[in-house]
This record gives sequence, C-alpha cells and structure tokens, in this order.
Amino acid sequence: FFSNKSAKIFVAGHRGLVGSAIVRKLQSLGFTNLVLRTHADLDLTRQNDVESFFAAEKPQFVILAAAKVGGIHANNTYPADFISLNLQIQTNVIDAAHRFGVTKLLFLGSSCIYPKFAPQPIPESALLTGPLEPTNEWYAIAKIAGIKMCQAYRIQHNWDAISGMPTNLYGPHDNFHPENSHVLPALMRRFHEAKVNGAKEVVVWGTGSPLREFLHVDDLADAVVFLMGSYSGLEHVNVGSGKEVTIKELAELVKEVVGFQGQLVWDSSKPDGTPRKLMDSSKLAGLGWTPKISLKEGLVGTYKWYLENVKQ
Ligand code: GDP
Repeated sequence: FFSNKSAKIFVAGHRGLVGSAIVRKLQSLGFTNLVLRTHADLDLTRQNDVESFFAAEKPQFVILAAAKVGGIHANNTYPADFISLNLQIQTNVIDAAHRFGVTKLLFLGSSCIYPKFAPQPIPESALLTGPLEPTNEWYAIAKIAGIKMCQAYRIQHNWDAISGMPTNLYGPHDNFHPENSHVLPALMRRFHEAKVNGAKEVVVWGTGSPLREFLHVDDLADAVVFLMGSYSGLEHVNVGSGKEVTIKELAELVKEVVGFQGQLVWDSSKPDGTPRKLMDSSKLAGLGWTPKISLKEGLVGTYKWYLENVKQ
C-alpha cells in the first residue's frame, strides 16, 4: 500500500468526520491519486451508479467511510434509515469493489456491533455472543453484516477485505446537530451557545453515569492507513484509545474547554444507552499501532475547528 503513492484510492464518504480525516492523512503522507465523490455526484445506495463508477474509475484501493451515522436519539428515531441505507451503501461498494478489481478494501464499523453486556474491555471475539443495545441495534446489524461480507469475500474469493471497528470518534467535520449528533459534538455546541447567550444552565441527557471511550478521528485515520499497509486478516480489528470517561466527566471537560460558567442539569428522561463500551485494542497494539492524541488536546482542537467553521 505504501510503495506506490500514485495508486488510485477511493475514499468513500470523504466529506464526513472519518472520511475527511483519512483524506487529510493520505495527503499528508504524499498519496496523490485520491478518487472522491460527493453524495450529489454519486449516491452509494444506487447499485447501478456504484457499478458504473467502479467500471469507469477502477480504483486500486477502497476505504469505505461512507455511512448513515448518528447519536442515540437519531438511531432510536430513524431505525429504518440506519439499517437500510447502511446495508445498501456497504453491499454496493464492497461487491462492486470486488468485481471491478480492487486490490484491497477496508470497511469501517463501530463499537456498537458488540453485545450490550459484552466483557469489558471488549475483545474482537465478543462479536455475536449476545443481544445488542436496543437503541442502536439497527445500525449495529448493518455493520455486523459488513464485517461478515468482508470475511465471506475473503473466504470465497481470496479477496483482501479487512474491517476496522473504531470506538466513539470526534474531531473536525463532526455533525454538531443539537438532537441527532453524538454526545461530544452535541455538548460542545450546547455549551458554546449557552456561553454566547449568557444562559445559566445546560441540559445533559441521561444520568451521566455511562462510560464511554473516545478517540480523535486523526488517530483513527492514522490507524486506518496503518491497517491498509500492514493487516490482511479475516477478523476485524478494534481501534480505541483505551481511555474511558463517564458522561459526567466528559460534560465537565467540554464545559471547561468551551469556557461555560453555568450549571449542568441532567435530563434522566433521555436514554443512557449501553452502560459501558470500552474496546480491547490490544490486537492493534500488538500489530504496532497506538493512539497519540489525548482527549483534552483533541477537545481543544475540535472546539477551535468548531469556532472557525460552524456558522452560528
Ligand atoms: P452512544 O455512545 O451510542 O450511546 O451514543 P451517544 O454519543 O449519542 O450517547 C452517549 C451517551 O451520552 C448516552 O448515555 C447519552 O444519554 C449521553 N448524552 C448526554 N447528553 C447528550 C446529548 O446531548 N446528545 C447525545 N447524543 N447524547 C448525550
């Protein structure tokens, strides 16, 4: 992968949190031949369009970072979108990539593929050992199907498809929607707006007790490129930071970074989701990769990006 910097690489979903970070990483490493398509140019849920695209472009490598994603509320509210759009996108891209001669494909999932009460930290082997967290099972089922599809194509066709499972991600180009986003960007925006408007209180969902692991998306991008270069196994690979915080600790940290002075109010009518999901990333560590960006440092950078880029 690293030997030819002009190999054609299709990064699907390059405008999103993950895809944009992967593009930055590849460009910084000197890769010159990235193939990128906006949603308007290529709708990945359209099988014919995806096939025509692969037939015409014939990329050598594919990184599949296109997905319908969202936080706990969005997953709960739009289950049909989460299962069907993700199944369509990944099925179209994986199958076309195989048929049109792609050498290697990397599929990205999420830590929510694991059972709600998986052992902590969660090893790769916990997949399909128990029931999923109900708030995001639709998304999780689609992502599990993607992992299995990569494995099936490897087994039947000896094709080099691998999967990476990132923990909760954050960073520039995240979705800062007040209801549909993940907790970190949602809180960043809420604290920022409260600060600007001189509000005394900010509402935070749930009880504050769930534990979550966060990884900066630039670390994920680094891991993705690392895996493209050095992993060709059947099993998916966890990508985490190994560091957990409670939602309460996260809220206090975001509050501090944003500089909001008021109080937190907990809305326990909102779901907590899974109590804990710390990934066991020792497999990736064993391959030789470790994360570099601390949560505090990552939050400071993300808030800077938010101030420069998000129209108030
Ligand atoms: P999850 O990791 O799949 O559960 O997804 P989220 O990032 O949406 O939520 C993580 C945790 O943060 C849950 O316990 C939420 O209840 C809690 N949380 C607190 N405030 C918010 C908020 O404003 N938005 C979201 N999405 N979650 C919040």
